[in-house]
Amino acid sequence: MTVLVLAEHNNQALNPVTLHAVAAAQKLGEVHVLVAGSGSLKVAEQASQIAGVAKVLHADAAHLGEGLAEEIAVQIVALAEPYAHVLAAASAFGKNVIPRVAALLDCSQVSDLTEIVDKKTFVRPTYAGNVFTTVQSDEAKLVLTIRASAFDVASQGGSAEIVFVSSTSAQSLSRFVSRELQTSDRPELTQARVVVAGGRALGSAEQFSAVLNPLADVLGAAIGASRAAVDAEYVANDCQVGQTGKIVAPDLYIAVGISGAIQHTAGMQGSKTVVAINKDPDAQIFNVADFGIVGDLFEIVPQLTEALKAR
Ligand code: FAD
Repeated sequence: MTVLVLAEHNNQALNPVTLHAVAAAQKLGEVHVLVAGSGSLKVAEQASQIAGVAKVLHADAAHLGEGLAEEIAVQIVALAEPYAHVLAAASAFGKNVIPRVAALLDCSQVSDLTEIVDKKTFVRPTYAGNVFTTVQSDEAKLVLTIRASAFDVASQGGSAEIVFVSSTSAQSLSRFVSRELQTSDRPELTQARVVVAGGRALGSAEQFSAVLNPLADVLGAAIGASRAAVDAEYVANDCQVGQTGKIVAPDLYIAVGISGAIQHTAGMQGSKTVVAINKDPDAQIFNVADFGIVGDLFEIVPQLTEALKAR
């Protein structure tokens, strides 16, 4: 069986989620990677160097350059015939493209996999991660998205051949207008090894950054937030962790003034070590915490930051 993995990239470099997608795909069979882009040869070369990739399909055309789901999905469908599985990361990009592929191929999609048991059997979270469901399908073709944080990173050291494939004609159903990129010196939230996340208790945008940034700086951490903090405009909404935000699984997650609603813990309960700071000893966040500190965050976080700086 051969698997087609959709590469995620910006025409210059592969997004690391593709390495997780390849590692997941290796559990299903021989791995081919599709790089669909514009001026994206460098990305195809990077994909060819991933260990375990047997072939890179490279489709290059102007209309494939901005990752428009309507264009990429049609390109995948044109190539999908020999593949038993089409797989992508359950990122914003993958979640946009892959359901269209399933609809166009008229086959089932299994989303957000956390485990691949065998070629037909998968584990995925339901009810905001409170239950893990085992899904089995006997369909000849399946499209899949995987939760990147649940799979290892494929290693480097491959030398796959790059095959240039003809691009499908432009669908022109949607048009790229502009892109606004947030730039930050901090690591990207879903890839960060340490996340410092704040909740409603921070009280204002000024306090959120004054209290949490120094701690994040000393730990080299990304900043995360609860939905309440995002709704109150303490931070940008791309910091939201949870069911309707980002899924993170860092080595260390520090939850500051977050109650631990299931919609929040759905996005962080895969973290290796969770530290929670909350003044309510009965806060739900302590149920998923490895270390809990009961007290006022405005006293504890500055003390913790100073102690870490002193080390
Ligand atoms: P609160 O629940 O108000 O908790 C604040 C906490 O701070 C409390 O535990 C309190 O004890 C503590 N505290 C207060 N003052 C201090 C202090 N000085 N020092 C220390 N601790 C203090 N939420 C998400 O986070 N992510 C999601 O993706 C998400 N998706 C949702 C989807 C749906 C469909 C719905 C219905 C809800 C969703 N929510 C999500 C919202 C979620 O249910 C909670 O409302 C939200 O997570 C609460 O945020 P919070 O913990 O910051 O605020």
